[in-house]
Amino acid sequence: MSNAGNPGGDEPGERSDFIRSLIRQDIADGTYGGRVQTRFPPEPNGYLHIGHAKSICLNFDLAAEFGGTCNLRFDDTNPETERADFVAAIEEDIAWLGYESDRGTLYASDYFEQLYQWAEDLIGAGLAYVDDQDAEAISENRGSFTEPGTDSPWRNRAPEENLDLFRRMRAGEFADGERVLRARIDMAHENMLMRDPVLYRIRHASHHRTGDQWCIYPTYDWAHGQSDAVEGVTNSICTLEFDAHRPLYDWFLDHLDLPGDRPRQTEFARLNITHAVLSKRRLLELVDEGHVDGWDDPRMPTLRGLRRRGFPPQAIREFCRHVGVARVDGTVEVELLESFVRRELNEVALRRMAVLNPLRLVIENYPEGQVEMREAGNNPEDPSAGARQVPFSGELYIERDDFMLDPPPKFYRLAPGREVRLRSGYFVTCTGVDTDADGNVTEVRCTYDPETGSGQAPDGRKVKATIHWVSAAHALDGRAVLYERLFTVPHPGADGADPMESLDPHSAQLIEGARFEPAMADIAPGQVVQFERLGYFARDPDTPDLFHRTVGLRDEWARIQRRQGKK
Ligand code: ATP
Ligand code: MG
Repeated sequence: MSNAGNPGGDEPGERSDFIRSLIRQDIADGTYGGRVQTRFPPEPNGYLHIGHAKSICLNFDLAAEFGGTCNLRFDDTNPETERADFVAAIEEDIAWLGYESDRGTLYASDYFEQLYQWAEDLIGAGLAYVDDQDAEAISENRGSFTEPGTDSPWRNRAPEENLDLFRRMRAGEFADGERVLRARIDMAHENMLMRDPVLYRIRHASHHRTGDQWCIYPTYDWAHGQSDAVEGVTNSICTLEFDAHRPLYDWFLDHLDLPGDRPRQTEFARLNITHAVLSKRRLLELVDEGHVDGWDDPRMPTLRGLRRRGFPPQAIREFCRHVGVARVDGTVEVELLESFVRRELNEVALRRMAVLNPLRLVIENYPEGQVEMREAGNNPEDPSAGARQVPFSGELYIERDDFMLDPPPKFYRLAPGREVRLRSGYFVTCTGVDTDADGNVTEVRCTYDPETGSGQAPDGRKVKATIHWVSAAHALDGRAVLYERLFTVPHPGADGADPMESLDPHSAQLIEGARFEPAMADIAPGQVVQFERLGYFARDPDTPDLFHRTVGLRDEWARIQRRQGKK
């Protein structure tokens, strides 16, 4: 376990929930000799999202807290949907999140031979049989919640015949779907998953790791618990939809000759986030139908999307820990996640000035051609971040929104006759404007007070607003993208609606012609800065002049809490 995974310094025993209680009980009882081993088991059929992050943090944090280990294991039992590039992407995303598998990358496909041998053992014990029914017949004969299933006509095949057929399945003598291997449990079991579940299917498909070595592939249920057992996993933690699979998980382990400890499955509720979808199928739909620009679009809840958006991995980890584990499904407000992002960025992001919608401001009494360097702190939260020099001159750009010709009562920023502070600059007073033929303001004229360079006026007069600016001659050109929620409703797809109907077609707004202060040149690809007064922005890793707004400056979560009377 890498230390990077636990930067919050959570001490063992500090946190408490039902999973940690179970583990403490196990340790007290000596169930696993004090050993704690977990795993994160993704299927390499897509990219990781914030829901997976919760599972990753939980598994790796538990191992770290209890002095155990956690490993990555790909659940790669379905060759038709899995790909090697997904494996690489998942490994990369886990590393980005700050975790490292204790045993490198493991794969269920590494255990295909052992799983096969165990299947032969079950057959030998009369606990599994080859069924010649097709998928449709098997499904029909499974019964329903109210009706027991019907025994397959092949259920009572002799073990020798089953063994012979199973070996011939492996040898490739049969076509896809012609036969399956099923456990022989109970066709009248109240849990339908226990009604002779399928263990192996015939699939003449190349696997991204085992190639054409196999033409039969284990089901998730057959592979999962046994893979846990092979690896020595003690706590197999999964999401609630596997609750009904637990009796099956246990049944297999009960009937096999295990190499060591018997793992135990524990379920917790999935993470859902408002204004997002987290199903791989839906995420794929967003990409395939062109609603977003790929899996790493900054509006996607994928780890790649959040990374491009500028979400720090540390904030994601702390959010996951804060949300905790429960046994009841729920949805967490995206504003809470954003407040963790904002809190982290407030501490680490450098401050810079950027003007997204420039309006020229000319200082009439500033000496012609003069340029002076103004010192501006890089981060008021972190004195060690130092300061940078910002060029100031007689021609600046300010934000168009910060000026109004005819301001309403509560508008305190620049207007004719009014004085405001230019951050890290001087006080300026508006003396007039130029307009175009349509009456649009094209330039604001001001005078400045050279005595206000400290940020205060020596005579003690006050201004009601401080605005940001960049020097026109020194500004760098750039672009920024502002984001709205991808889905306009908090629970897209609730009540059987099609989530795609609540997509916001204007969720990304590209702003061209933004102007940045010169020190923006030092910002690395992927780095997040605070544009003063505008929010946090991440430099695109591939397109250097493009910045994505990570989050705004206002804490929406605090507002929600107040509305709910929680603060
Ligand atoms: P699939 O439908 O393909 O199974 P999945 O999202 O479950 O999709 P997996 O690769 O099987 O994807 O997930 C790996 C692990 O992450 C599993 O243990 C799963 O339970 C967990 N996981 C997936 N989604 C969430 C979520 N929203 N919250 C918490 N854990 C999740
Ligand atoms: Mg799954």
